[in-house]
Amino acid sequence: MDTNKKRLLTGDRPTGRLHLGNYFGSIINRVKLQDQYACFFMIADLHMLTTDFDRTQDIKENILSIAIDWISSGINPEKSVFFIQSKVPAHSFMHLIFSMLVSVPRLERIPTLKDKVKESRFSDENAYSYGLLGYPVLQAADILAYKASVVPVGEDQISHVELTREIARRFNYTYGEVFPEPRAILSETSRVPGIDGINVKMSKSLNNEISLSHSFKEVRDRVMKMVTDPAKIRLTDRGHPQVCTVFSFYNILAAPELIDQVKYECENGQIGCVACKERLSELVNRLIEPIREKRFELERNPSGVWDILHEGTKNAIFTSNKTVSEMISKMKLNY
Ligand code: ATP
Ligand code: MG
Repeated sequence: MDTNKKRLLTGDRPTGRLHLGNYFGSIINRVKLQDQYACFFMIADLHMLTTDFDRTQDIKENILSIAIDWISSGINPEKSVFFIQSKVPAHSFMHLIFSMLVSVPRLERIPTLKDKVKESRFSDENAYSYGLLGYPVLQAADILAYKASVVPVGEDQISHVELTREIARRFNYTYGEVFPEPRAILSETSRVPGIDGINVKMSKSLNNEISLSHSFKEVRDRVMKMVTDPAKIRLTDRGHPQVCTVFSFYNILAAPELIDQVKYECENGQIGCVACKERLSELVNRLIEPIREKRFELERNPSGVWDILHEGTKNAIFTSNKTVSEMISKMKLNY
């Protein structure tokens, strides 16, 4: 890894397989930026525990699966560091130190907290855990442990990167300069909707996703389930693409001419929703096919993928320990 390059950090929670939201929101930018930056890609297992501490039975399988999804989507593990968050002690230590630098009301105002509480299986809205409240502080630790300059993420993570900047500033002001202020990099499609409607974010944990590893048939079935304009019942009814989930996927995936054509046909009652979905499912399958093939190959050699994760984790430990040493010395805790 080129040590003169600026650093990039981002990651995914091992809550399931990666989907089109992860792909268009973040992976596309990772692939694009992997030569320009020294990249650290994290499997955020501690973050998963903030919402699913009691569901660890699949975590190991999901970790492997995410690393496979990364490589299959074009992230080159020879150029970048792949690592597992919980195996790197700096994250937990820095999370604790940073938790002194941020107020509880500031954390309570972060919009993702409300969403996560709403999605949570723990019904009492006022009883969310200390760990869930501190999720964005842990994320600040993730980013700053590597002094990352850039963080390619989807729109849902913007407020966390903003908090990271505040924490970096607060630390530097209190103890002396250690951290650069990172910035989020958004892709063209920073928010992919779920198959259940344009107002819901596609998420691993909401069962509204199209995974990069879904079979040809699963992709088709999920596209067929997408919510369309409720006012368009018959083929000849005039539709409203702006409220249709299917159309929002054309917007993400299709060439501009096809987007215009779909809009025209829908608005003028020239195409039915079923045919429109058939065509979309072909587009999605065309995108996913090469990823699926590569995944199939990698699945036959899981130990090779684990080796990549273990090697990367060693590198992450080495790099982040340097940051911790600097922090300790600035904080006068070097005894
Ligand atoms: P979970 O439901 O467990 O939170 P998730 O699907 O939200 O899973 P994460 O692992 O939390 O995925 O997020 C990984 C990255 O993918 C983040 O950068 C996040 O911003 C991005 N991302 C997730 N969902 C979407 C989406 N629907 N559109 C765009 N980007 C997304
Ligand atoms: Mg998420």
